[in-house]
Amino acid sequence: MAEKITAVKGMNDITPETSAHWEWLEEQLRTLMQRYGYRNLRTPIVEPTALFVRGLGEVTDIVEKEMYSFTDRLNGEELTLRPENTAGVVRAAVEHALIYDGGKRLYYMGPMFRHERPQRGRYRQFHQFGAEALGFAGPDVDAELILIACDLWKALGLSGISLELNSLGQPAERLAHRQALIKHLSQHMDVLDEEARRRLHSNPLRILDTKNPDMQAVVEAAPRLMDFLGEASLAHFNGLRAILDAHGVSYRINPRLVRGMDYYNLSVFEFVTTELGSQGTVCAGGRYDGLFEQIGGKAAPAVGWALGMERILELLKSQDRLPADPVPDAYAVVPEAASMPQVMPVLRELRALGVNVQMHAAAAQAMGSMKSQFKKADGSGARVALIFGADELAQGQVAVKPLRADQSGSAPAQTLQPLSGVAQWGPGLRAV
Ligand code: ATP
Ligand code: MG
Repeated sequence: MAEKITAVKGMNDITPETSAHWEWLEEQLRTLMQRYGYRNLRTPIVEPTALFVRGLGEVTDIVEKEMYSFTDRLNGEELTLRPENTAGVVRAAVEHALIYDGGKRLYYMGPMFRHERPQRGRYRQFHQFGAEALGFAGPDVDAELILIACDLWKALGLSGISLELNSLGQPAERLAHRQALIKHLSQHMDVLDEEARRRLHSNPLRILDTKNPDMQAVVEAAPRLMDFLGEASLAHFNGLRAILDAHGVSYRINPRLVRGMDYYNLSVFEFVTTELGSQGTVCAGGRYDGLFEQIGGKAAPAVGWALGMERILELLKSQDRLPADPVPDAYAVVPEAASMPQVMPVLRELRALGVNVQMHAAAAQAMGSMKSQFKKADGSGARVALIFGADELAQGQVAVKPLRADQSGSAPAQTLQPLSGVAQWGPGLRAV
């Protein structure tokens, strides 16, 4: 046999046992977004590399070391598999003038690519669902987005997810804070790791985001951006808090929450859980009023978040909130292969009525014994077996045999139904 070809490390197949969970989650998300008036935007998975370099910032983890970038062999274009989709959404919004007549509420979902060390909750191809509100400046939209996420946890039956909040202020405020921060960090050069030293002057704010335990004390004592915010920034932040408070949404203000991308300003937030080990951030976002201009569009305010679908599914699993596997309503037992021309049109008629019917099909030439067919019928989870025996067929009938016990604990009796009156077969066939 030829050598096996396997999937790329950190990139996973989603097999039918779990794809049902994905479809269910996607449906919940779509329904919720519709409720809030958000509409779907689908952008390409491949974008010009410059979009991310300019959009995310050159001195970020993603741009420095996580992007799958390549040169198109045929025309020399510099391309990148999208590591996130906010930059792509803004690019598309500029390209199609999506907010020419006011704001737009959008959502997306799909695969993202980052060359990270694969581990639980961290993959090289992973999936995000994101919501972006473009063209709205007020904290009401920031609050709306946070409330959507809270509604989602509720709809999914998830618990133990807490909200962390911060404000990054405006560029001028960040600059003043930055100078104070560099001054503070420079006094502790001996404690800073190589990465922090490298970023000291290029992106000191990101040093606050470090996961290095040796640097925690220094980072903890660093000047807080919150103390550098001016009146307007504070008003925005307090406006957001007032709306969250009015909804009884609890949150913790985390002054060290800075987020990985350069494009954020004012509100930033993360939803975190302690149940997923060190990959505990399930949803993260914030305001990015500067991004439109940064990638060559007309200035426009915007805010959004993205959630990691793998992490949400893992949390659903650990909290036992995943839906049961889908099962057919009926399983067709067909003793003789020669009956198929008579049987299959009946099954198709049932499907047209909305009944999910799985037909027995054998791996080998023969259909298999009745016993083995019943075993399959039972294993399928169907509530009834339709038995197309040759004798019944000859009389224009099919036996309908309930496979599951009813409330009284006993399986109802088998009945004979006319092939010619499928619509009249009565209750029990169609899932309620
Ligand atoms: P982290 O600090 O965990 O690396 P991040 O700040 O890089 O996260 P974002 O870019 O904000 O993450 O992406 C939003 C969400 O997407 C994250 O909160 C997480 O749930 C998910 N996510 C990010 N990177 C990965 C990955 N490599 N594998 C799986 N999910 C991911
Ligand atoms: Mg990351």
